[in-house]
Amino acid sequence: NADAAMYNAKSSGKNGFKLHSHDLTDRCLNRLKLEEYMRESLEVDNFELFYQVKVDASTGTTKSAEALLRLHHEEFGLISPGEFIPVAEDTGLIVDLGYWVIRQACKQIVKWQNEFNIPVSISVNVSGKQVSQANFVKRLKHILLETNVDPSLLEIELTESIVMGNAEENIVRLNEIKSLGVKLSIDDFGTGYSSLNYLKRFPIDNLKIDRSFITDISSKEEDKAIVSAISALADALSLNIVVEGVETKEQLMSVREICKDSPTLIQGFYFARPEPADKCKTSFIKGFQI
Ligand code: C2E
Ligand code: MG
Ligand code: MG
Ligand code: MG
Repeated sequence: NADAAMYNAKSSGKNGFKLHSHDLTDRCLNRLKLEEYMRESLEVDNFELFYQVKVDASTGTTKSAEALLRLHHEEFGLISPGEFIPVAEDTGLIVDLGYWVIRQACKQIVKWQNEFNIPVSISVNVSGKQVSQANFVKRLKHILLETNVDPSLLEIELTESIVMGNAEENIVRLNEIKSLGVKLSIDDFGTGYSSLNYLKRFPIDNLKIDRSFITDISSKEEDKAIVSAISALADALSLNIVVEGVETKEQLMSVREICKDSPTLIQGFYFARPEPADKCKTSFIKGFQI
């Protein structure tokens, strides 16, 4: 079980990665070791993309997934992105790692396209540091050509804080990305500060509603109201909604009721956890009972 392994990675740590240690000296040392380990890992294939499927809220059909990065360690099992992405960001390693992720996802799209009759689209998380690189669009284009992927099956997720953080420049950048035919999403929507005026000007396709609004959605009227408002907003701007973090039947029922009038995808443990590519097959073939 991947999550059990991940838990072990966090709680164990006899010598290398006492990742949750509160001792500052320890943490600095471990960051260095983690950095070193990540560098080697890019060369020896210790990174792996897991995939979490997204399910159509009205039909149960499954045609897309989010790629979520995992780092394998012999002793500590799976290390979660919450642990290593911040270190990768600080050290600049995120850029090489990010291209590895995009290339890997493109290859997987092509692979799945050959395996199933229906095309499956994959979204990847891209860090702000990477997307603002001067040659990002050029390198992205290169990967699209090299892997021979249908660009419309690749989706780039940028968090609300990245996108809004540098809004004017990002409008230009996002338009360049869109011109390659790639789809764009705003991730963790609702947790940052969105200017609605900018939202209208960004060439985006999807809004991903952050998990924090879903946790208590069945009982809290405020959360219902927020999700309902985001759904209406998405509708008005012709965006699709992806709802993150649906874990229970109750949450699913609430979300379906609130979002019934607009195209909505559900992503959450209720349907599936992030898992290795081969494990997703049945979801794409059979979909889900809804
Ligand atoms: P995110 O992009 O918002 O991804 C969703 C996170 O929520 C994933 O955590 C996923 O496992 C988790 N999740 C999904 N459904 C549920 C649910 O029902 N309940 C709960 N409790 N959690 C759920 P994960 O895989 O640990 O990733 C955490 C974050 O790390 C991601 O948040 C993303 O910001 C970042 N990340 C992951 N992969 C990459 C990557 O390849 N590149 C970059 N730059 N960041 C990445
Ligand atoms: Mg994401
Ligand atoms: Mg998210
Ligand atoms: Mg998140």
